[in-house]
Amino acid sequence: MKRIAIIGGGIAGLSAAYELALQQQAGAPIEFMLFEATSRLGGIVETVHRDGFVIECGPDSWVTKKPWARDLAIELGLGSELVPSNDSRRKTYIAAAHALTAMPEGMRMMVPTQWASVLNSQLFSWQAKLAYLREPKLAETLKATALSDDDSARDESVRDFVVRHFGEEVANTIAAPLLAGVFGGDIATLSADAVLPAFVALEREYGSLILGLQQRMRAGNASAPVFTTLRRGLASLIEAMESLLPESSLQRGVVVESIEQSGKGWRVRGTSLVGESHLIEQSFDGVLVATPAAGTAKLLQPFDSRIGELLPQYSSSAIVVALGFTAEEARAMRIPRGFGFLVPQRKSLGGKVLPSKRDVRDEASETTAQRALLACTFLDQKFPHRAPDGAVLLRAFLGGPAAPKLLQHDDATLIRLARTQLERFLGRLPESSIALVRRWPNSLPLYSVGHLDRMAELDRRLAQLPNLRLIGNAYRGVGLPDLIHSGRTAARELAANVTTA
Ligand SMILES: Cc1cc2nc3c(=O)[nH]c(=O)nc-3n(C[C@H](O)[C@H](O)[C@H](O)COP(=O)(O)OP(=O)(O)OC[C@H]3O[C@@H](n4cnc5c(N)ncnc54)[C@H](O)[C@@H]3O)c2cc1C
Repeated sequence: MKRIAIIGGGIAGLSAAYELALQQQAGAPIEFMLFEATSRLGGIVETVHRDGFVIECGPDSWVTKKPWARDLAIELGLGSELVPSNDSRRKTYIAAAHALTAMPEGMRMMVPTQWASVLNSQLFSWQAKLAYLREPKLAETLKATALSDDDSARDESVRDFVVRHFGEEVANTIAAPLLAGVFGGDIATLSADAVLPAFVALEREYGSLILGLQQRMRAGNASAPVFTTLRRGLASLIEAMESLLPESSLQRGVVVESIEQSGKGWRVRGTSLVGESHLIEQSFDGVLVATPAAGTAKLLQPFDSRIGELLPQYSSSAIVVALGFTAEEARAMRIPRGFGFLVPQRKSLGGKVLPSKRDVRDEASETTAQRALLACTFLDQKFPHRAPDGAVLLRAFLGGPAAPKLLQHDDATLIRLARTQLERFLGRLPESSIALVRRWPNSLPLYSVGHLDRMAELDRRLAQLPNLRLIGNAYRGVGLPDLIHSGRTAARELAANVTTA
């Protein structure tokens, strides 16, 4: 019998456990144990149901074009629960000058697909519009630059990549706040190869991102919704997988403190926090480590200290504040039509939405904490079934440099801060029946320039450690589809290749 340990019960570890359970049911000689430090599986994936609101505390959806989350949902019998985003309402605003300015229609991140909407947009100065018009004409030069470097050695920051195509203003106004929301980092540090692989590939093929995207859209399925979620929330995925795992294969409330090689196998040691706290020690033939980057570095430090250096060195923290307003409470609210808004650094805006005197005055008097609002999602508009009829569900993301300090604040302070920040752009908010806070410390690893090269070196070093795999959001993607895919694949490979001690 092959015995496999999985450390960490977030979406990556749980997908791996589910895959092993399938193999077990199919008669493979496998036993596995999933160790999760907390009493709940799912990690950052958590849904709260309250008074008819479906409140996502972590991710709210996945990108539809990556198939693995959808495939898993269908496999788990959740096909009828799949819900596409309300793309007819898809509009994202950029917050500036105490107002929300819509991003032009048809943008794919910072790349336009409709000229008229870019040229008529209030968001950009004429210099930025000229930069957009010029980009297709630079196709040959951009292609030559993209291809002339030695592939394995080249990487650049997202900022440099975007600036080469569209200039500083577009980088600051759109790319910076969009990617801060997903990767929690500064675009001057983020790796273009790791964070924008599709655009890097487009550049290699077409030079111009605008021309490349036009080609791809002609060939692709333009009608697919951009995001997909589940009617009763993303935790349904977690619950469905959990219900298929044998209870004897789950150890919740166990913090794994060390792993140690013993022959070809591994010894796992930890502390169980269930009841009277006690030590546990168990032997396995293979181990899947699915903990966040810092924890993984600590577990692997004793036998390869270089691995810790190859993992992302910094992970940003996020705080989610969800506010649910009943139809009665929401009656006087005037939330614009759309999916939500992003808050860039004010100094970066360049169009007709230049900071007003009031902005400049406010900026001088604000503390960093007061500038912590990164984005807000209008969840009741982004997806159906998120709130009762007429109700409003807002989700504010706080983070950035103030995050470590904000994490120390109590819920009431964070709710007050989020409300004050939201009111700058949405007008006075009534009291909300529902106010919920979630803190996700060090949750989004920063893929800095050179990340993919470091991942390649990591793979080479891991090949020296038999029967050990690393999965989770520190490596090749932070989104749910990638994590489900890599978790399941690693589990399948380990189960096939592990040799019993
Ligand atoms: C606010 C927010 C919004 C997001 N929105 C989206 C979105 O809309 N769409 C999307 O696709 N992605 C989104 N993401 C990213 C995505 O949610 C995460 O990348 C993903 O959930 C991480 O999964 P994971 O399994 O790698 O790690 P985690 O979810 O962090 O799970 C790791 C688990 O390991 C456990 N653990 C840690 N140490 C130990 C130990 N020593 N012993 C035992 N157990 C341990 C932890 O308790 C945890 O349960 C968002 C992330 C955040 C923070």
